[in-house]
Amino acid sequence: MLHEDPSRTATPPRQVRGACPHDCPDTCALLTTVENGIATRVQGNPAHAQTGGVLCAKVSKYPERTYHAERILTPLKRSGPKGSGQFTPVTWDEALADIAARLASIAARDPQAIQPYSYAGTMGLVQGESMDRRFFHRLGASFLDRTICATAGGEGLVHTLGGKVGMKVEFFAESKLILIWGSNSIGSNLHFWRIAQQAKRDGAKLVCIDPRKSETAEKCHEHIQLLPGTDAALALALMHELITHDWLDHDYIARHTVGWEQLRERALQWPPERAAQVCGIPVEQIRQLARDYGTTQPAAIRLNYGMQRVHGGANAVRAVACLPALTGAWRHRAGGVLLSSSGSFPVDRVALQRPDLLAGRSPRTINMVTIGNDLLREASPAFGPKIEALVVYNSNPVAVAPDSSKVVQGFAREDLFTVVLEHFQTDTADYADYILPATTQLEHWDVHVAYGHTDVLLNQPAIAPLGQARSNTQIFRELAARMGFTESCFQDSDEQLCRQAYGAKVDFNLLLEQGFAPLGGPDAPFAEGGFPTPSGKCEFFSERLAAQGLDGLPDHVPNHEAAGSSAQYPLAMISPPARHFLNSTFVNVKSLRDIEGRPLLEIHPQDAAARSIEDGSVVRVFNDRGSYRCHAHVSERARPGVVNGLGIWWRKLGLDGSNVNQLTSQALTDLGQGPTFYDCAVQVSLCPSP
Ligand code: SF4
Repeated sequence: MLHEDPSRTATPPRQVRGACPHDCPDTCALLTTVENGIATRVQGNPAHAQTGGVLCAKVSKYPERTYHAERILTPLKRSGPKGSGQFTPVTWDEALADIAARLASIAARDPQAIQPYSYAGTMGLVQGESMDRRFFHRLGASFLDRTICATAGGEGLVHTLGGKVGMKVEFFAESKLILIWGSNSIGSNLHFWRIAQQAKRDGAKLVCIDPRKSETAEKCHEHIQLLPGTDAALALALMHELITHDWLDHDYIARHTVGWEQLRERALQWPPERAAQVCGIPVEQIRQLARDYGTTQPAAIRLNYGMQRVHGGANAVRAVACLPALTGAWRHRAGGVLLSSSGSFPVDRVALQRPDLLAGRSPRTINMVTIGNDLLREASPAFGPKIEALVVYNSNPVAVAPDSSKVVQGFAREDLFTVVLEHFQTDTADYADYILPATTQLEHWDVHVAYGHTDVLLNQPAIAPLGQARSNTQIFRELAARMGFTESCFQDSDEQLCRQAYGAKVDFNLLLEQGFAPLGGPDAPFAEGGFPTPSGKCEFFSERLAAQGLDGLPDHVPNHEAAGSSAQYPLAMISPPARHFLNSTFVNVKSLRDIEGRPLLEIHPQDAAARSIEDGSVVRVFNDRGSYRCHAHVSERARPGVVNGLGIWWRKLGLDGSNVNQLTSQALTDLGQGPTFYDCAVQVSLCPSP
């Protein structure tokens, strides 16, 4: 339903330039049509090459999401037991005064008992990591290690290439071989898929490497359906074949890499037969892939974060990131690897976040992945104070953090004071003491990095905030004022924050004028080496890791819960996103939820038959951490021995008030302290008919 404002006079439609704020590599440029103060349409900006005038189905529904009847438009105070979802509207004054008083009284004992919790509900630098960080720095609250998506892969890149850097995405169009590795691009990286299609039309071969036969895998020339968590074994076997057939660029290796002899020795321990056994794929498939990769130029690899959500995730990214230096693929602008381009953006985080406000204090750090355990921990010398207050924004941890039963138990603590800044009453908001209505991307300023291209984007507000909604920055500004924080940086406006994010490094007038500004930089960034590592070379062997007592070379690190390793829980489960959801965002947009239908577990016909499960059956998926009911989709989208629990449904919209994270664990990755969502052993059984 549209919210009419009778005081508005009719004005001609106008278009406002913006940026998609969601956790997606594409960071599209938006054009919002506004008529009489109402956003009537959100489209892709055709002037922005990476967007090409096209948005995904999810964000095309933005007006439906923005004007959703269930949007929270006033501050709400809890009026029932924790988790009951019962709230009463209150004024901003009442809410802010009470929140400030509660936080101040906890801070007087120990500000580290206050825990911020946020992630990429918006990827915007201003609404996601500016005034909020200033507020918590000034307060002296605990730090949050924001690990829930990408840290393992990020560390893998840092210890190999030197940063989150790689090929420019547009040049994949000129590649002759593209490995799409750990990514369902059609669902999660649509604009890259358009580029890959162009390459395909020009004769490129597309190979998808993924435990799931995704929509993308179906449309590639070949699909390598390996077991979850075995990607490093495959990459090492490819190296073995490159070495034994001498499909190597010796000159590039000699001039632009370190650790070649050590890597050679490691790779020679991985003949294709060994990897085939570990990966659960035919040996000939590995040989063919190596032949293709070793003899095709330019060859490019598009990694996404799926492959690093397992115990050995960082090592897997390290192993794959070594490949282009072995064949000299980096010499071509259409060769190399791209996982993330975010390290290319010259963001001035010191200006935005103001760590000087810590005034010499070094608060402890809580890992967002282990919030389930940490909310249940008592004070101790090792841990520090018990967590007494949580301020959640841009995140829905009750639905998205692993090991949900622990997370729910923690959020249900009667002695925990929880504030949630949100658009909707999510699973997390149900556990809040206060819900504060936040603006959407159509209602506030922001400026963005991207991790799938190299353009800076500006988001200008298209409409006034709905109801009493306030931007995150405004909420933290007002809390700061009520807590007596008088530093002038708490007065900075959102537009000023947008300007501070890049300072003089990006032309702000260009951003205002066209909505985006390319970073520039060379087309083939590592054609002549120059990696941003300490050695300036591609580091097959990392001295930095070795100095920490870790393996300096990439290796296959088996899953914590490898497929088939448990008789009790014989199936490996991965939980890739349902195509029309983005993490837990959009699950409450009815038109998108209707397309997804119901929570599904994809199971291979053999595994289904062994359990008398038919397509559409209600099944119980379980392990020692919990149990989750959903519908079975019997399909070869799942390989034998692996089930795909599509996520991430809101718990309260599922069959039994839970979701797939009831089963996932809080175990961490090899580097980066990341989550291991796709490293999860389960059993599945048919639920008796009601
Ligand atoms: S979610 Fe991704 S593809 Fe969809 S509009 Fe946003 S950036 Fe573009």
